[in-house]
Amino acid sequence: METRTLPRPPRVGLVSLGCPKALVDSERIITKLRADGYQMSPDYAGADVVLVNTCGFLDSAKEESLEAIGEAIAENGRVVVTGCMGNEAEVIRQRFPDVLAVTGPQQYEEVVSAVHDAAPAATSPYLDLVPEAGLKLTPRHYSYLKISEGCNHRCSFCIIPSIRGDLVSRRPDAILREAEKLVEAGTKELLVISQDTSAYGVDIRHQSRMWKGHEVRAHMTDLARELGRLGAWVRLHYVYPYPHVDQVIPLMAEGLVLPYLDIPFQHASPKVLRSMKRPANEAKVLERLKNWRSVVPDIAVRSSFVVGFPGETDEDFEYLLSWLEEAQLDRVGAFKFEPVSGAAANALPDHVPQELKQERHERVMALSARISAEKLEAKIGKTLDVLIDAVEGEGATGRSKADAPEIDGEVHLRDAGHLSPGDIVPVRIEDSDEHDLFGVPTA
Ligand code: SF4
Repeated sequence: METRTLPRPPRVGLVSLGCPKALVDSERIITKLRADGYQMSPDYAGADVVLVNTCGFLDSAKEESLEAIGEAIAENGRVVVTGCMGNEAEVIRQRFPDVLAVTGPQQYEEVVSAVHDAAPAATSPYLDLVPEAGLKLTPRHYSYLKISEGCNHRCSFCIIPSIRGDLVSRRPDAILREAEKLVEAGTKELLVISQDTSAYGVDIRHQSRMWKGHEVRAHMTDLARELGRLGAWVRLHYVYPYPHVDQVIPLMAEGLVLPYLDIPFQHASPKVLRSMKRPANEAKVLERLKNWRSVVPDIAVRSSFVVGFPGETDEDFEYLLSWLEEAQLDRVGAFKFEPVSGAAANALPDHVPQELKQERHERVMALSARISAEKLEAKIGKTLDVLIDAVEGEGATGRSKADAPEIDGEVHLRDAGHLSPGDIVPVRIEDSDEHDLFGVPTA
């Protein structure tokens, strides 16, 4: 690889694609690079090397990743590729022979050393550019907190376990230390992420570690409780519907964890769930939802579903619709099944024609938009705590406890010019639509 030594600190451009987990990887890489004396470049022109963190989950995401690599090559020419698509180095190299290096997901050392090779840093013993809590790509007032890597499930449509491996949990004390630093640095909301949050600690036998004079088990419930004690909002994402999820509901009632659960149910028909290799006790799920709501009436449940899975009949699909009608979920994302190379589901018989997938997708989205609109309308007249994300002139946007950043709705505020991002204020809700709320701060 050609190298060049620079008279000033070298600058790295970053294109980060994919899910919040990839964003956390990017943050980790940047934190290390900043510690090594690198600066970030906001554009291609000012960068000595461009790092593209790719997503390889769906074929469409791969295409988007390849386009991003192509753009970085055209605009800058010195490109290092990392992330999930890094597992397909030959595909990348074939299309872009000029790429300097390709590394896979979580290969932090390799990607950092590839950047060092491409643009060597001037070493200085006095360099200490990294704030205590590392560098963040999210706004200062919210942070993603990754608690584990990999997954022990083998859902038939998913290749994540083959890309990221089996579950590897972080130590609870290390997670809590990171979270505490983030809160001290101004984070108001901690978004707990992983591939499977409810499995946290299974691989390390829920081993306890000392934290502030007492033992904390590597277990979702214990970790959530301790995170809640740090004083920031705590939001749980990617919770697989295991029975022990019920144990975090009392923490929501106590106000330690946000009344919010992101549980990807993926389908409701027991037959489809079985062929997806997901737990197929959907009737119990309805019962559990009812119980959760009896303990925490304002709990917001977000979920995602796959429509047009191979073998999904009209009957299966109608079952899903009536299940959704009964479940009354607050937020629903639906995806049309797409074969991902390497996924077991590709070999299943009876693939659903594209037009039918499209039609089913539209029907799920229309139903969930109606349910969402009804649920949001019921909030008119209430006063909700809102975390402010942005202020512009006299208006502001923020999120209630029921809204995660990027994926859920927002609360649009009038007469809010006096607020700042990161403020948490009571807001009287005046109006709503299918996804968002509108209101005025009362403080
Ligand atoms: S639980 Fe999630 S990450 Fe794990 S195999 Fe299933 S879909 Fe993939």
